[in-house]
Amino acid sequence: MGASPILKASAMPAALPSDPSFDLAIVGAGIIGLGHALAAARRGLRVVVIDRDAQANGASVRNFGFITVTGQQAGAMWQRARRARDVWDEIVGPAGIPVIHRGTALIARSDEALAVAREFAQGEMGEGCALLPPSALDDKLPVARRDGVRGFLWSPHELRVEPRTAVPAIARWLETAHGVTFLRNAAVHGVAPPAIETSRGTVRAARAVVCPGPDLVTLFPETIAKYRPTLCKLHMLRLAPQGPGWRLGASVMMDLSFGRYLGFDGCPSVAALRARIAEREPETLANGIHLIVVESADGSLVVGDSHHYAATPDPFAPTHVDELIVRHARETLALASDQVIERWTGVYPSADNDTPAFFDTPAPDVRVAMVTCGAGMSTGFAFAEEVIADLCG
Ligand SMILES: Cc1cc2nc3c(=O)[nH]c(=O)nc-3n(C[C@H](O)[C@H](O)[C@H](O)COP(=O)(O)OP(=O)(O)OC[C@H]3O[C@@H](n4cnc5c(N)ncnc54)[C@H](O)[C@@H]3O)c2cc1C
Repeated sequence: MGASPILKASAMPAALPSDPSFDLAIVGAGIIGLGHALAAARRGLRVVVIDRDAQANGASVRNFGFITVTGQQAGAMWQRARRARDVWDEIVGPAGIPVIHRGTALIARSDEALAVAREFAQGEMGEGCALLPPSALDDKLPVARRDGVRGFLWSPHELRVEPRTAVPAIARWLETAHGVTFLRNAAVHGVAPPAIETSRGTVRAARAVVCPGPDLVTLFPETIAKYRPTLCKLHMLRLAPQGPGWRLGASVMMDLSFGRYLGFDGCPSVAALRARIAEREPETLANGIHLIVVESADGSLVVGDSHHYAATPDPFAPTHVDELIVRHARETLALASDQVIERWTGVYPSADNDTPAFFDTPAPDVRVAMVTCGAGMSTGFAFAEEVIADLCG
């Protein structure tokens, strides 16, 4: 620690220099913090990112790596998703991040879901999407089951990365290509620029953005509480590699996602679809389950998810929830294997639908920035550009 030029040992007298070492300190090295680091570094700012963990460990490495446009809430979130997807496209090459597949098949397994798909495809947010007949699965998604399928919405806008390697790769690239400094194993307990107080000493920066993910209580809790967030816990599973010749090739969702994703709210038939789901799948609904399946490079499938809300989510992951998720996957895809080889949970902050993200000014030259829904991977880069523009002009 003594070797670091950016730190003053906390035991030493706290005489702060008048010229801060960094233009911007970012608390949190999840995708939201990294998005802010990217936006600031692109403006030529000297940036330090500070995180309490030794390596990325939060929602940003536990998610699907599914960069979604279709299904995002109309308005700011949809606009952010389109911009953020473009940023992903710009950086995956330079940062050395493989894109594992592109596009999404939203499979309609009921007439109600088909009606939603049709209405969506005809609207503004359906731009570039197409409603296709079941026979088109031969081309777009050969491993889909055909029984009970009414058609599917094909969206070309999405991409899929492996989050557990992509997020560290972005951090490495920010460090090497943009000169961003990372300070890890450092819990931040005070933010009053130019002093950023950490468990490893004082970092000096002219401005700060706090991107704390699900930590609602350490920094500026009163500011965060104004948006009334709680936490959402999700179950995630990995199914065994499906074997030679079995490729997913796109992200997959089905009726449950048409019912759950706010981007379909404008479709008149969504009410009928939700009523059908409530009647036929009460346990699925009670556990907030909808189906997303994405593929990894080794042919294994990441499958999820469920949504359980609590101020402090319990640490338990009952298997009946996992079994429900796997059943929906089996009904949607002609799986070669439904053997679960990995399980984990993740947590993100969640506020009302009216507040899918917010930033606020709890102190001069400081912003608190949070995506308070399950779309930070898809929208974070664009959201961060807005925050940096607000903070830095
Ligand atoms: C299971 C799951 C699946 C999801 N799937 C998707 C998906 O497919 N697509 C999508 O768009 N979104 C998805 N999401 C949502 C997305 O992952 C989140 O919106 C996003 O990762 C939030 O990023 P973050 O940087 O805010 O939080 P995190 O990744 O949790 O990072 C927050 C960081 O802040 C640090 N920190 C907090 N307080 C302090 C402090 N005081 N001092 C030092 N460090 C601090 C923590 O250590 C942590 O590293 C999913 C989320 C989960 C959990």
